[in-house]
Amino acid sequence: MATVSGDIDPSCAICGAPPFPECPHEGERMELALNQAQARWSGMQEIRDWVLNHARNQVMVTFHQLRQLRYQAHVGYLQSLPCFTLYYRYNGQPPIQPAQLHLLHTQISQANAIFKQGVDEDWRRSCLRYPDVLDYYFNLVGFVLPEEQDSAVSNPVFGASAKERPRVKAKKESVDAGSAKELRKKEHRRSRGRTPPPHAPMPGAYR
Ligand SMILES: [Zn+2]
Repeated sequence: MATVSGDIDPSCAICGAPPFPECPHEGERMELALNQAQARWSGMQEIRDWVLNHARNQVMVTFHQLRQLRYQAHVGYLQSLPCFTLYYRYNGQPPIQPAQLHLLHTQISQANAIFKQGVDEDWRRSCLRYPDVLDYYFNLVGFVLPEEQDSAVSNPVFGASAKERPRVKAKKESVDAGSAKELRKKEHRRSRGRTPPPHAPMPGAYR
């Protein structure tokens, strides 16, 4: 015997396939629409820019401190080398034995190479801190989600889209009217893990 049921499941909004077995299209389109909406929202970019600027600045400050300390140690070592002061005063041509000068050249270039390696290591370590530093600044960002009772949440008024897309409007009205059938259908779909938000139709499906 044929039964009539109010909470019949709709077919896939994208390809029209029957609701079971579930096809991936609605979920894929929803993900795409969410990402596109997020990209259109300037707040996300502002947060990313703010976090990145502060994280980058913090990493640079730390690196400059490390490099400065290493440079001081490097200069201290050079100054401790025999004849280095003479070498410096005579612009690299001090009046000393060639063998001694050769040794000094070797020591200076070794020290310079070690200094360079150390600076590279400081930079590498500074950059490895990015995940923690980014987390830190993201966690400083405050955000406020509106109350569910807020009329802007429960009775949203969409702008031009309502005029341009009559079918969207029709759909929205039926939900706003509190149609028990619509609500049941949506609850049912949500319970199955397919979660089109009540007021957000699939992109492309109603154009
Ligand atoms: Zn489909």
